[in-house]
This record gives sequence, C-alpha cells and structure tokens, in this order.
Amino acid sequence: MPAKTDWARIRDDFPILQECAHGQPLIYFDNAATTQKPPAVLDALRRYYEHDNANVHRGLHELSTRATEAYEGARERVAEYVGAASASEIVFTRGTTESINLVAQSWGGGFLHRGDVILLTEMEHHSNLVPWQLIAARTGARLRFVPVNDDGTLALDQLDALLTGEVKLFAFTHVSNSLGTINPARELCARARAAGVLTLLDAAQSAGHMPLDVRQIGCDFLAFSGHKMCGPTGIGALYARSEILEQMPPWHGGGEMITSVTLEQSSYKKPPHRFEAGTPNIAGAIGLAAAIEYIEGIGREAIFQHDSQLTSYAMQCLADIPGMRLLGPAGERGAIVGFVRENAHPHDLTTFADQHGLALRGGHHCNQPLMRRFGLPGSTRASFYFYNTREEVERMADILRKAARFFA
Ligand code: PLP
Repeated sequence: MPAKTDWARIRDDFPILQECAHGQPLIYFDNAATTQKPPAVLDALRRYYEHDNANVHRGLHELSTRATEAYEGARERVAEYVGAASASEIVFTRGTTESINLVAQSWGGGFLHRGDVILLTEMEHHSNLVPWQLIAARTGARLRFVPVNDDGTLALDQLDALLTGEVKLFAFTHVSNSLGTINPARELCARARAAGVLTLLDAAQSAGHMPLDVRQIGCDFLAFSGHKMCGPTGIGALYARSEILEQMPPWHGGGEMITSVTLEQSSYKKPPHRFEAGTPNIAGAIGLAAAIEYIEGIGREAIFQHDSQLTSYAMQCLADIPGMRLLGPAGERGAIVGFVRENAHPHDLTTFADQHGLALRGGHHCNQPLMRRFGLPGSTRASFYFYNTREEVERMADILRKAARFFA
C-alpha cells in the first residue's frame, strides 16, 4: 500500500498560504487562474541564475553548456511527464495560449484551406477559440462547435454527426475552467481519429491535476501552462506528434531556429528548435522541470484524489446555501466549482468574499460564449489544489452564507 500523503507537511511548503488579506487569514481558491510555487521551484530558478546563467545553444563556453544541458534536460523531463515518445516532440512556449496559437498559425496556416472545418466545443476558453477565429479568417476555414448540455457535459451524441469529411482538427479542453467538466479525452480522440481528424487537447486545467499520457489519450497536440502547476509564469509547452510537427512550417522567425541564412532566404532547424525563435525562457523551463519533479514527488493520482474529495466536499457545503446555484456536472469533475447566486452579480459576490480573505474569481473566466449559453453575465469560481484543506472549504461556506444574508 502506498504511504499516506502528509498533506499538512506539503502545505508548509507554501508560506504564502499563511498570509492575510484584508486582515483575515487568506484562503486561496484561485488555483485555476494560477497556482502557488513551492521552494523547490524558487530554488531551481535562483540556482540557475546564481550558478549557470548563460544563453543556450550558441555558446562555446562552460556556462553556456551547463545552461543548455539544463534547458534541454527540462525538455526531456516535460516529454517524460506527458508521455511523449521523444523530447523533440516538446516545444517550449509561454503557455497554453501560445501553444494553441502556434498550432493555429503554423499547422493551420500551412494546411487549412477554404471550406475546411475546425471543430471546437462551446466550453472552450478564449485561448482555444480566438486563435482559430484568426486563422479561419485568413484561410477561409470555418468553425463548428460541439454543444454543451444543461448539466455542463458535452453533447457527445452529436459528435459523430459533426465529424464530417471537412473537419481537419478537433480541439477541445480536457477540463472546463468554468464548469469543472472532465471531458473523456481518450474517447473523443479515438472518435476523431476514426473519422480521420487530428486532435488538440487543451490541458491547462488537467496537466498539474491528474495522470496524463499523450500516447494513452491518443491526441496529436497537447497544450499546457507551467504556472497552473506550481511552475513559473511565462513558460509552458506544446506536445505535437513528431510526424505532424516535422511537416509544420516555422511561425516566428529569428535566431536559434535557422540552419543557414542569406539575405534572400533561410533554411530551418528540425523541430522543436524550428519553433523556438530567439532566446527562450531558459529559467522558466528549468523552473517547470522543478515543478514537475515536485508534483511527481506527491504523485498525480494522489493529487487527483485529494482534489476530487475536496471538490465534492465543497459542492456538498455550498449546495444548501440559500439562493446558490452550482454550475457543471454533479459527478466527477476537475478541482473547480462555479456558482451563481440570485441578487448578486459575480463581481460583487467575489468582492464580498475578498473582504473576508477569500480569493475567488468572478467574471466570464475567458468563457464568454459559454456564459452566454447559460444566460449568465458571469459566475464566481472556487478552484482548489493539493495544499487546500477541508477547513478552508468550511470557511468558504461560512463566508458565502454571510453573503447570502447580505445580498438577500
Ligand atoms: N485553457 C484553459 C482551459 C484555461 O483555463 C486557461 C487559463 O485559465 C487557458 C487555456 C490559458 O492559459 P494561459 O493563460 O496560461 O495561456
């Protein structure tokens, strides 16, 4: 039997959780926006800058070699973490948004034609919608959407009918950042593959929260952000299956991505460096590898179980608050609980919570079409991570009960 995880000791790695906000002990429930960082990540950044800092790849000196080894080592670590066949399938980016823009601009720009269709869902974050709108406008491709049911799940009974011959790519989120819905990624990728359609999985809300393996899931692209999984901001990755990545043209030009340049034209490196023009976020990549190490030290299955239990407990605690309506599926979900309450705008409710030291997020969560689908101006969202506790959930319920009286 695996040793019992000492969650209290792990929480001690995050002194920021002992801060106060508005004079009240902080409850940080905004983890879907960004997570806190443990000392292991901060130490890795500091160690790199103190001892190994140099530019990568082009240097013929010891420090540059060390920096390059650390940077490329981080790529190996990310590849292993997502189950890629090789590190050359991992492109470092600024995060999920940039990863999806890379696919839209490079793959989409190279291979989409007028009349082609990109299939998305109604629950996509703007970062898995706007890049496709941009490339559709440039290429004449069209967008199509899998609808969302009232319970916050995808209308998968319609999927096969939507996967027609014109569809070239199905891009969808693994976990909805507003509803918490966990989409059955493996099944969706298999159904798309059977129809000859490539798949892109937005793993922004899953990569740090649950076991995830691109070859088991069977996706062609996967995008995620380091800062939502204990890593620094400004770093993330794109996984792309090598047969596809090798055919994709560059999307940004500059140093580091070329093999030879004349005044008229250039030739380009192989992936992944073809897609990493300019000096990369070396420290960020090293910090991301440290975050992965830290998460793996706890175990993704243990994190998933912890988060799931906390989320069900939160739903249970919030359900009996007068006027509270919980969004999303009743069953298994990601570490996210979205809700609305009568007589209170989400911004007002979130500001009320903040006055009591409770950090929630209120608004459209970059999900404007989804909010419109549910006839809402926005929602309030509590999102959890492994360092959060049942006591914090109980305090949230108390604060929201006070809010119920305040906004009655
Ligand atoms: N996709 C989903 C589902 C998200 O929740 C987010 C961020 O909240 C993103 C994409 C964008 O991530 P980033 O801003 O780190 O690029």
